Amino acid sequence: MQKIPVTRDGKKGSDIILIHSDDVVKIECLRNKEYVIHTINDKYYWTPTLEAFEEWMYEDGFRLIDQMNVVNMNHVTEYDVKKGIVYLSPEGAAGSKTASVAWIHKDHVANVKNMLYEVKKLDRSSDPDDFQDDIFDTILDQEEDSRFARSYAMIQAIYEKKKAEKKLEQSEQRYKSLFQNNPDPICSFDGYGYCTSANPATFRITGYTEEELLHKSIHHLIVPEHVERWQERFDDTLQGQTHHYEITFVHKDGHPVELSVLNVPIVVNGQMKGVYMIGKDISERKKAEEMLLRSEKLSIVGQMAAGVAHEIRNPLTSLKGFVQLMQTKISGFESYFDIMMDELERINFIVSEFLVIAKPQSLRSQPKQAEAILHNTIALIGSQAMIHYVELVVHAEEGLPAILCDENQIKQVFINILNNAIESMPDGGQLRIEIGLWDENQLLIRFIDQGCGIPEERIPRLGEPFYTTKEKGTGLGLMVTFKIIENHGGRMAIRSEVNKGTVVEIYMPVIR
Ligand code: ADP
Ligand code: MG
Repeated sequence: MQKIPVTRDGKKGSDIILIHSDDVVKIECLRNKEYVIHTINDKYYWTPTLEAFEEWMYEDGFRLIDQMNVVNMNHVTEYDVKKGIVYLSPEGAAGSKTASVAWIHKDHVANVKNMLYEVKKLDRSSDPDDFQDDIFDTILDQEEDSRFARSYAMIQAIYEKKKAEKKLEQSEQRYKSLFQNNPDPICSFDGYGYCTSANPATFRITGYTEEELLHKSIHHLIVPEHVERWQERFDDTLQGQTHHYEITFVHKDGHPVELSVLNVPIVVNGQMKGVYMIGKDISERKKAEEMLLRSEKLSIVGQMAAGVAHEIRNPLTSLKGFVQLMQTKISGFESYFDIMMDELERINFIVSEFLVIAKPQSLRSQPKQAEAILHNTIALIGSQAMIHYVELVVHAEEGLPAILCDENQIKQVFINILNNAIESMPDGGQLRIEIGLWDENQLLIRFIDQGCGIPEERIPRLGEPFYTTKEKGTGLGLMVTFKIIENHGGRMAIRSEVNKGTVVEIYMPVIR
């Protein structure tokens, strides 16, 4: 039963009349802040004396309260914010609505204003945690007039709803940032396996864009042999199981991406709605594992080599002896014997290569000049180079320090590298060898050929046992070479460009 303060005839500050709200049938807005209130018998002009209140009421409070649809004035059937018209129907009239507008007595304006000010502040703030929960309690405690309690409660309700919304929004943002900023790929799928969302890491790791992934199946992203595994795990997850497994994706540019994947069901209101896939790029780890495997392979080859070499050498010596003997005794089969001797030599050669890797080398180390060893080696295989039209050019700096080494082994290294270089230039070319100081502690010996080169992806495989591209190759030369250089405390690097040539660099510690 609220009373509305109005002024008669638009005279500001003139006597205030209270109209019983039940008598009001219509409030009409003439122009900004000027109203006509219709009662059954009369018309009143309303230019509120509480101008500030009125302004606030229409700009903030009114609208807010109206939107909430929690209002406390009886008998409002229609309220048009734009026109500023409120239609009321008398109590008990058939078909009338019982919504109303919050009319607030002037004594309470300050309190309501305060409360609405807080609502406004909250609305604009980005952190709802800055606002206390009991912010209105003191106001409400002071308030004794129960008629206005509902108005206050409305505002409090608005405030709390706003705050809850803000909090939800914030926690949503928090989850979103876990998704958005996660360095690991995360995507969600609906029950049909169509991708419903994917984070930036997914786009980065797969090379596909949002448009290319969303609302589609991702089967084309998986290597064919893993598609079935993917589908099985997916179906299981839809049944509520989580799954941890490894799978290989294909990047848009074709390279494989190894992923360790966790499938988690998406459950909303107790219903399976889809699957979350959380991945981890384990390509690097896989590579490291492969390296480990390879070095293991190497050491096994080494151990085997020791046994095999030992067992083969002795029978080989007798075989060779008897072949030589038979060569002198039997005539007519000379070419066979030659082949047999050649093949026995080859076996012997391979076995000797094995021995280098197998035995922990007892180096007969002596200070030697690398250049001198190189020249000795060239004397050995120079003729072979000539046959293949390979021109050897040696550039050595003057006054180089000596290296501590086993001359025979270093010779072996040079032979292997020179042979490879010569074999890479079937139509001849230049093979340049440079010897100089790399820094004050290391000598650099560089072999530059103009041969066929080595494709980039094969370079990491060089030095693997039995890795060869040659019909008659053993694939042991570089392995032995790496091993010897390593035993000498040096290191070796190979760079190459297909059809341009290869550069082999050996860094050896010098004697100071
Ligand atoms: P092999 O010479 O018996 O094949 P290696 O261990 O000496 O075994 O070499 C392994 C492989 O490395 C060769 O088969 C060849 O494909 C490649 N390679 C090595 N050196 C060169 C080079 N200078 N130019 C081109 N390819 C090379
Ligand atoms: Mg070789």
